[in-house]
Amino acid sequence: MAQTQGNCFICGKTAGKTAIKNHILKEHNGGGESCCLIKAEGAYNKDYWLYFSVPADARLSAVDGFLRNIWCECCGHLSAFRLGGGEFGKSRKLSSLCAGNTLLYEYDFGSTTEILVTVVDEISRPAQREKARLLARNVPPPEECVKCGAPATQINALEGEALCDKCAESVEDDAALLPVVNSPRYGECAYDGELDKWTFDPSGPFPQPSEAPAKRRRGMFRSAG
Ligand SMILES: [Zn+2]
Ligand SMILES: [Zn+2]
Ligand SMILES: [Zn+2]
Repeated sequence: MAQTQGNCFICGKTAGKTAIKNHILKEHNGGGESCCLIKAEGAYNKDYWLYFSVPADARLSAVDGFLRNIWCECCGHLSAFRLGGGEFGKSRKLSSLCAGNTLLYEYDFGSTTEILVTVVDEISRPAQREKARLLARNVPPPEECVKCGAPATQINALEGEALCDKCAESVEDDAALLPVVNSPRYGECAYDGELDKWTFDPSGPFPQPSEAPAKRRRGMFRSAG
């Protein structure tokens, strides 16, 4: 299957998941703050993916907060990071991970959403106010109404069926309907994407390039074993 395309939120470029990663490391690597470039993707549906930067001295709790806002939060469920079978505490710093480490992030231990969080590389970025800054995100995958084939806008969470507005009218239990949203958690519990403020706008505005030329610095991570 073709990789889902995604958008660079810094300059607006559209490309596949791997191409966007290389693009970010090449074109948007420069600034005063040592950060980790993080990839998040649905553990089961990798059409949903994100790249974001987080300062290396920030804690995993910053990643937890960001994933909740963009992809997960519905009822304040518990969440956890795991590495190699054991829990990796949220108070740990990102700098205690190695490039190449992949954590499993679980949100909600009832109807669990599982997300793979990979430390891709170190990157330097202009100082950022937010702990986590979105750099790129998949284009919403097309979803078809199971009844008529029109673009789906809602999920009947009881049946796990994607529906268009018209076909959704015939669902008797309104409460079963959830909106189709750009997240691996869509259709779960009461998730409606309420806190997701990161919708790509192809018209920008994109900041003009004013960043210092890319300067790679080695040695932030311990060497990946
Ligand atoms: Zn870009
Ligand atoms: Zn919930
Ligand atoms: Zn329909």
